[in-house]
Amino acid sequence: MTATATQTPFVPVLSGSSWQTVETENFTEVFNPSTGEVIARTPHLSAEQTNDVVAAAKAALPAWRETPVVERARVMFRYRALMEQHFEELAALVTREHGKTLAEARAEVNRGVEMVEFAAGLPSLMMGETLPNIARSVDAEAVKHPVGVCVGITPYNFPNMVPLWMFPVAITCGNTFILKPSEKVPLSAVRLAELLLEAGLPEGVMNVAHGDRVCAETLLTHPDVAAISFVGSTPIAKAIYETGTKHGKRVQAAGGAKNHLIVMPDADQEQTVKALSASAFGCAGQRCMAGSLTVAVGEAGDAVVPKLVDYAGAMRVGPSDGNENVDMGPVIRNDHRERVASYLDIASGEGATVALDGRRDFSGDGFLIGPSVVDHVAPTMRVAKEEVFGPLLSVVRVNTLEEALALGDDCEFGNGAVIFTRSGYAARQFKQHFNAGMIGINVGVPAPMAWFPFTGWNRSFFGDLHIQGTESIQFYTRQKVTLTRWPQEGESHHDPVWKSGS
Ligand code: NAD
Repeated sequence: MTATATQTPFVPVLSGSSWQTVETENFTEVFNPSTGEVIARTPHLSAEQTNDVVAAAKAALPAWRETPVVERARVMFRYRALMEQHFEELAALVTREHGKTLAEARAEVNRGVEMVEFAAGLPSLMMGETLPNIARSVDAEAVKHPVGVCVGITPYNFPNMVPLWMFPVAITCGNTFILKPSEKVPLSAVRLAELLLEAGLPEGVMNVAHGDRVCAETLLTHPDVAAISFVGSTPIAKAIYETGTKHGKRVQAAGGAKNHLIVMPDADQEQTVKALSASAFGCAGQRCMAGSLTVAVGEAGDAVVPKLVDYAGAMRVGPSDGNENVDMGPVIRNDHRERVASYLDIASGEGATVALDGRRDFSGDGFLIGPSVVDHVAPTMRVAKEEVFGPLLSVVRVNTLEEALALGDDCEFGNGAVIFTRSGYAARQFKQHFNAGMIGINVGVPAPMAWFPFTGWNRSFFGDLHIQGTESIQFYTRQKVTLTRWPQEGESHHDPVWKSGS
């Protein structure tokens, strides 16, 4: 069945060879956050419908894992070319369903293309290890095999890039894949899968399932699923890790963040203010690497906060869809805008000072809220500890670098952290001792590119092997070690390795 012209269309499901429209009473409305208009409906698959998708991915596995890695990589070369060809369309789609500016959407798609470039290099990276004569006349080799059916469950804030963190590497390693994108932003995922089929990927290797908890939990507990990659908020990441590992799957689960931006008194003030704003208000603060807590050391607070308020206050906030003349677009939903705004009342109720209030009257029905700066925040306040995930930057003032580093030790999360300074010593102390996995020195958003792992610490990550880089190849493969001995004709068949007691 397909949707009628009077209905908002359902987003299709890709199961094996076909795109299917699943009409159901259980769905999520997809909004254009710039206008508030409903543009699609995401069906929530039942457990049985989800099982069918797993069956399709399982059926495609034997032929795909036997396909030479060089051929699998060639699909990625063709895919990259198609992504370049459709670059503007992909970026516009991100803006349409998510609300980030077109410039931000282009940057996101670029990061996604880099993941495809990384995956296209897998024939070299999949190579194994050998050691001839590890024991007398015995040769050893370790090679990588795919793990099986892999699942990706992705968040709303990077509709294009985060799915691309997962399936290019998983698929090129020889696995089949089921993507369950965020029900809030399913359109980019669908387009990415369409282009992948156009690039020549055989049917069933890539599948797209939609839904909420029922669909996700069916995938998480299904006996035919081998590995789960998750990116989203910390409570869900923890639950996914616990449920997935309890059911015998390997799981990598990236969670939320509270990223500290330390400003030393010797920092270049103009550059720092721009970098703080870009970090905190880029993508309307909806990035796991967004800086959300400025830690101003000594005189840095008095020097930087007024400039920051002026700079952020002058940002052009508006509908981003089809409009290049904005610095910041809307947030994802109206309830999320209200949640972000509520933190301003919570913060002032706890004694902080709202130095810039983003609550303004915007025309239109988009989910707009301006940038906010909250000063004189104490580390114990909720706004200093909780992930707001919106355009709100808190400022904590401390006297020394040591105090700034200690704040990191008390942080629940551990994704990114940044220092702005001209002092090599301060930068080194920070790099060596700050309690987070991704460090920036005079770089506002130190998000590693495809070739490096995305190394969240603490409750920003659950698992062992991170997304991106060679760790992702380890995650999507399992090793097989072979010991070989070919006795000469007439020679005894006893095995010297066993005989020596190894
Ligand atoms: P979310 O946790 O609400 O949802 C993420 C995914 O989990 C979605 O696909 C959703 O459908 C699914 N889901 C929701 N509830 C579930 C449940 N009970 N069981 C199984 N699956 C469930 O996250 P979000 O609001 O879409 O995304 C924002 C969050 O993602 C922020 O916390 C942000 O920091 C985080 N994030 C982290 C990284 C990182 O690399 N660490 C990157 C991007 C986003």
